[in-house]
Amino acid sequence: MRLSQLFAPTTKEVPKDAVLKSHQFMVQGGFIQQMGSGLYHFLPLGHKVLSKIRAMIKEVMDSYGAQECTLGFVVPASLWQQSGRFEQYGKELLSFLDRKDNPCVLSPTHEEPITQIIKAHVKSYKQLPLNLYQIHTKFRDEIRPRFGLMRAREFVMKDAYSFHANTECLDREFERMHAAYSEIFTKLGLDFRAVEADSGAIGGSKSKEFVVLAECGEDSVIVCQNCSYAANIEIAKRAKRPEPDNVPKASFAKFYTPNTPTIEKLSAFFKVPAYFLMKAVLKKARLSKGTRPVVFFLRGDDQLEDTKALNAFNKSALENALELEEMSPSEVTALGLPVGYIGAYGLKHLVPDIEVIFDVDLQDADCLICGANEADQHFVGVDLATFADLNYQDIAKTRPQDRCVECQGALSEKRSIEVGHIFKLGDKYSKSMEATYLDKEGRLQHFEMGCYGIGVTRLMSAILEQYSDEKGCVWSKASAPFEVVVVVANPKDSALEALGTQIYEELKKAEIDVLLDDRADRFGAKMADFELIGCSHALIIGKQALEGQFELITRQGLSKHTIARDLIVQTLLEART
Ligand code: ATP
Ligand code: MG
Repeated sequence: MRLSQLFAPTTKEVPKDAVLKSHQFMVQGGFIQQMGSGLYHFLPLGHKVLSKIRAMIKEVMDSYGAQECTLGFVVPASLWQQSGRFEQYGKELLSFLDRKDNPCVLSPTHEEPITQIIKAHVKSYKQLPLNLYQIHTKFRDEIRPRFGLMRAREFVMKDAYSFHANTECLDREFERMHAAYSEIFTKLGLDFRAVEADSGAIGGSKSKEFVVLAECGEDSVIVCQNCSYAANIEIAKRAKRPEPDNVPKASFAKFYTPNTPTIEKLSAFFKVPAYFLMKAVLKKARLSKGTRPVVFFLRGDDQLEDTKALNAFNKSALENALELEEMSPSEVTALGLPVGYIGAYGLKHLVPDIEVIFDVDLQDADCLICGANEADQHFVGVDLATFADLNYQDIAKTRPQDRCVECQGALSEKRSIEVGHIFKLGDKYSKSMEATYLDKEGRLQHFEMGCYGIGVTRLMSAILEQYSDEKGCVWSKASAPFEVVVVVANPKDSALEALGTQIYEELKKAEIDVLLDDRADRFGAKMADFELIGCSHALIIGKQALEGQFELITRQGLSKHTIARDLIVQTLLEART
């Protein structure tokens, strides 16, 4: 490809809403163009990078025996009603009526349609296992689309779905997909981790996320510095906390504690570590109709983790909540509870339909201080072991100063970008959609399912966040738009122009992905574009080239080498590995 003919509208102008370099450079380099909020066009360079990543993912998925297909993007809402997710998925699911008033959705994920296909065609265990995948458009009406391709509304996902006759077979495929993902992200040159994760709106019993560690990441992961334990903060566990000194030993009693509605004030009042204070966090659980109050009790120096809290509520309550909402002080007061003085005694009496959940670190704890459900009053000497049947669950956010649940090792918290997510779905969808097959004994069974997603377009952002410098895009070898750009320093010099073209043809013949910068622009402008676009190398055809000396610049690190003419092809081929 000649750069003079390539449609790559580069610009010096920094997009107004670009916070991340990946977003800024992809727009400035002419890879993508924004059409609307979270909506992007892929221009030829962006399309080329995307195609390389797609091809790499396809190669690995095919090698693991998964079969590629393309499922319809617009899906009748009736399928989502069958699985029960039409109401549950929330506002990210964009639905509309067609001309015959039939409701349809733009697919944010494809469990329902794939289950329908398998239900129609797979009747016997002999046809299992199966793994089908696609690399295709998804739409999620994200509340806050941002960071360019990182969190778009329309994006490309690789989604695979596997079907099995038993859980052992599903477990094996989950491990195989784990290996496939590791291979894909390694080949793409990413520094990634596989971490334990929450299964969210997709569901199922177990899931793992593949994350790229990066300061700009929207997620946090907790990583053990001693063993392999790593988990998204949404589910990260921790060892039981050690008890600090200064235990407030006291007999059970009510205490007048004026003006102590916060943990800080209460801690200062009693001169006691916040560890021994029991904090109440009130929320409203949003149900299909209306809301229900819920209170979470934690140690005073712990924070409620929202995903854990929602999961804990759904494990305990009769009706699942779609989400947990904040409760305003006036709403708390309306329940008859004193803001800042809420405690465990007599709660159910005051608010009969309240759900009460305690953090697992409080299990049977004593020497606690908690609100007395009366303004300016607290109880001291609280011993939770004296209560019967308390609901203890893991609801507190794991902190870097906590210890590893597996080995007691030190933990650290890191920002991360989720690039892939694999799930054991079990029979969640096969049951709700009544998808069955006949087992060896001729009995009807529900399929065991797994699903496996990769954010293909998000990968472009993640690669740039990992590699780029302040000058522009730096891609990994496998994702760079071209392996080399041959830069003719001065195309008006006909000898240089001819030499550049000749080398360009040679490189093409050697099947090296090459771009020829044959534009009449200044050399400085050409180098700036090389740095902005991020071809893996630039081969400079300058004055010394006529004497057989060529300068080869590697985009990663911008290191320079002089090489002889007969080593150009070999050097570039070797640079692939
Ligand atoms: P997130 O937590 O980032 O919203 P998710 O957990 O909802 O993502 P999954 O349902 O696991 O996403 O989808 C599989 C993959 O699709 C994710 O691992 C991610 O890489 C990608 N992805 C999800 N949402 C988006 C988006 N809005 N833009 C780009 N890629 C996305
Ligand atoms: Mg996910």
